[in-house]
Amino acid sequence: MNVSECLAAIDRLNPKLNAFLRVNTAANGKPIAIKDNIVTTEMPTTCASRILSGFTSPYDATAITRLRKSGYAIVGKTNLDEFAMGSSTEHSAFGPTRNPWDTTRVAGGSSGGSAAAVAARMVPAALGSETGGSVRQPAALCGVVGLKPTYGRISRWGLVAFASSLDQIGIVTKTARECAELLGIIAGHDPLDSTSSAEPVDDYTADVERGAKGLRFGVVREAVEKLEGDVRVNFDDALRVLRKGGAIVEDASVPAIVYAIAIYYIVANAEASANLARFDGVRYGRRSDHSRTVRDMYFASRGEGFGPEVKRRIMLGTFALSSGYYEAYYGRAQAVRAKLRSDFATAFERFDFLLTPTTPEPAFKIGAKTGDPLSMYLSDIFTAPANLVGIPAIAVPSGFSPEGLPLSLQIMAPHFRERALFRAAAAFERETEYWKREPRNVEC
Ligand code: GLN
Repeated sequence: MNVSECLAAIDRLNPKLNAFLRVNTAANGKPIAIKDNIVTTEMPTTCASRILSGFTSPYDATAITRLRKSGYAIVGKTNLDEFAMGSSTEHSAFGPTRNPWDTTRVAGGSSGGSAAAVAARMVPAALGSETGGSVRQPAALCGVVGLKPTYGRISRWGLVAFASSLDQIGIVTKTARECAELLGIIAGHDPLDSTSSAEPVDDYTADVERGAKGLRFGVVREAVEKLEGDVRVNFDDALRVLRKGGAIVEDASVPAIVYAIAIYYIVANAEASANLARFDGVRYGRRSDHSRTVRDMYFASRGEGFGPEVKRRIMLGTFALSSGYYEAYYGRAQAVRAKLRSDFATAFERFDFLLTPTTPEPAFKIGAKTGDPLSMYLSDIFTAPANLVGIPAIAVPSGFSPEGLPLSLQIMAPHFRERALFRAAAAFERETEYWKREPRNVEC
């Protein structure tokens, strides 16, 4: 796809899908779309929030600089849950993104715009961001590939901070190979991000043709024992595909994985409450005109600028960090996070990869979970562990539910083993070829 084909597809489909918040008709190069919480100089960055209205970054994120050097052009900025907080893109201040396979359903989130854009063939690839599953989960619900790299593999410079110990830029593509190529371009140490890793950048496409023969996959028992229905059937089918390709597939145990969601929503919200303090009506974007004192101006700007989910997170996080409760919540969450890390390390002594489905269910109806934050939070049950532990993980299309909605397999690997991850994902992809199917009913 070239830029003009992308622009034509966006013109035709975006009114229905709302995947793009902004399009750059002057783009010139290899086309890519960028989630609107990654800063770019030629279009505004909104984080899908009213509080950033009027903000355009004076600099590019490091990942953007690297893409430009390789000849890429940003065709547009994609929709997301406000500040990447959510699992459905319904928390965007600019309306939800719709799922190209069924427009009455969510595209997932928070990188729902990026996933829908690739699934509907509006762009060949997109960047998203990951804090607890925001690339893998929407990729799963839209039937495309989504990568969350090792923590520190891609610079976070220019990614608007949500929870700094969890955040990473991620990649959405149709196939594992395209994903591997893009990672090779944007990965690597960056002096502007002190948490970026000095580990050498690998040749990520080197092993994509090697197949799965002899690779050892562990099925995370604690995560899959309660699976039922279509997701169960599909997951068991995926295991059979891997075995047929010569892989070894056995039971694995990661006992602390059952606490991942509880840990995640304490750690992520605590860090968010600190990171979002910078949006004060002075430094960036929008300032309320309904105030007479400085103090009023902070309150009114934040009160008017942030949506309800962001406010809920800031309140929960502030509470978890308050002096009387710090040890009971944040302190304990960090202790269990350490246990989770060591459980994964133990499991990886026996296995090259660990497996779960990417999501507990296919795309849900728009509006089905907006009134019930806890059920929305459970969308991340299989994805959040990789962020807490810092390991890479990939979502690969694994087929369709009886009503034609995409399902997805999640493969996790030890730190910095992305090259192996692409090998496994590509092997699965070659056996199944689900990536060749495209949604057909989106025409307006
Ligand atoms: N859905 C999760 C949340 O709401 C993850 C978000 C993300 O990865 N940015 O926090």
